[in-house]
Amino acid sequence: MKKHRWIVCGAALGLFLVMVPGIVCAGPTYDRVKETGVVRAGLMYDSIPAAFINEKNEWVGFDIDIAEEVVKRIGGQMEKDLKIERVKVNNKTRISFLTSNQIDVSTANMTHKRERDKTIDFSITYFFDGQKVLAKKGKYSKLEDFVGKRLASMQGTTSEKNAVNLLKKLGDPKADEHVISFQRESDCFLALKQDKVAGWTTDSTILIGYAAKEPGQYELVGDFFSDEPYGMGCSQDDSAWRDSINFALQDMWLDGTYKKIYDKWYGPDTPYYFPLTAKIEVWP
Ligand code: GLU
Repeated sequence: MKKHRWIVCGAALGLFLVMVPGIVCAGPTYDRVKETGVVRAGLMYDSIPAAFINEKNEWVGFDIDIAEEVVKRIGGQMEKDLKIERVKVNNKTRISFLTSNQIDVSTANMTHKRERDKTIDFSITYFFDGQKVLAKKGKYSKLEDFVGKRLASMQGTTSEKNAVNLLKKLGDPKADEHVISFQRESDCFLALKQDKVAGWTTDSTILIGYAAKEPGQYELVGDFFSDEPYGMGCSQDDSAWRDSINFALQDMWLDGTYKKIYDKWYGPDTPYYFPLTAKIEVWP
């Protein structure tokens, strides 16, 4: 009898929550942001020009501008002034900080992979890159030239795995040994600069970003050998939050703000020129 009463009470409470929209939970992240007015955004700091510390010691970049704009627009959707709290993440922490609830969104040149989707959710693709190899100028002309040589890449990235697969595909029997993993992008660049590796391989825009530090010294060799569609990482199963991010990105695309930010960082007048060749998915 007692059990029966609890079931009836539970059902009544459930019905009440569904019928009173103000009380219904949209999702833990969405609700917390709406309540606190703060979005904790995970951003890289060593990735030129996505998110890096410039010579004036300012933390700037494409991902930073995109994250700021997305947060502003989610504020518009919620009819609330939102503040962004920038949290430094790297290749290793950009997912774990989401799962441990230290950040609400990760805008961190992160490729949307099915494997990663088991742990976190992703927004629609907001940036389209692919992997290439950077080398000292004039030394190599094609990807096959790196067989039997050392390639640098960053730990915990898709680049690291793609590099091993590339060397294997090209017939390098020691592919695993030949991909040398470093913690950070800047470590990879230094290894290349000091000829400790023949090439550094990761997403092409990161390579372009670092190469621009020393114009004329480096070049991209060969063609793209992977697709790297970037999504904003968000916590698993919070569709209200993910929708707000997606709607913000789509609205930015539709009113030209996305293109403005893109051109600021990757346009023809920048040292990081990278033509925009795809469209952001827009739902009617
Ligand atoms: N986009 C790739 C990834 O998500 C490599 C670049 C990076 O991690 O910084 O693993």
